[in-house]
Amino acid sequence: MSAHSAPSVPPPLPQVPPVPLYGPHRADCPWCGSRRLRSRPGRQGPRQGAPTRSVLDRCRDCRHTFRNPLLAPRPEHPAVRAGIRLRHVLAARALLRRCPEPESWLDVGTGDADFPRRARRYFPYTSFDGADPTHRVLRARAADRVEEAFVGRLTDPHIAARLRARYDVVSLFHHLERVPNPRAELHAALHVLRPGGHLLLDVADPRRLFALPPGTSHPVGLRAELEARGCTVLTGERNSRLIARKEA
Ligand SMILES: [Zn+2]
Repeated sequence: MSAHSAPSVPPPLPQVPPVPLYGPHRADCPWCGSRRLRSRPGRQGPRQGAPTRSVLDRCRDCRHTFRNPLLAPRPEHPAVRAGIRLRHVLAARALLRRCPEPESWLDVGTGDADFPRRARRYFPYTSFDGADPTHRVLRARAADRVEEAFVGRLTDPHIAARLRARYDVVSLFHHLERVPNPRAELHAALHVLRPGGHLLLDVADPRRLFALPPGTSHPVGLRAELEARGCTVLTGERNSRLIARKEA
């Protein structure tokens, strides 16, 4: 700054519209498509206009419970981030016991690739790729957190065709509960897994926005869906982390 310029306050940052906190309200179950939804008593959400908060809906047909509208991903509290770090480490160790030497691993909904970065410590010889609907995954590749980066969803035909049966491990970390069609996303994850490969899911309890305690539950139909598609589920009912092997 030149010596004769008058002291001044920095100009304010340009105003940008805030990211909407919630997606659109939906009238059908994301898991089975049923329209027979029931909001938790006393927590009726707005049915018209822009939603102002997210409520818990439960499907009367498949019993799946989900946040309606879906919450947009957003920066989380430091204590939550610490909890997520711990879950990343526990998930990597759990997978290590089932599948010690995978060659190729795809992390879906990877964002900045925090999970591959931590898992690499346990899998130094594994090639990690990342997929994310945002361009954050390109930034992660530039930082060498993943080797290949795919911008989009696994359900996008150009990504599905390219990655068919390619991976030894596919991980979805707090991802299924944030996508509009979790069943299609699950099928797409199995599609890119090779026979004998392992699927690693960590699903947050929709009743707890931030806390991710042990004993949280999956979508009710998740295990049955995996078994119907030729997978063996290797983890227990009450574990919020699910590992399944694709048999065929
Ligand atoms: Zn349902």
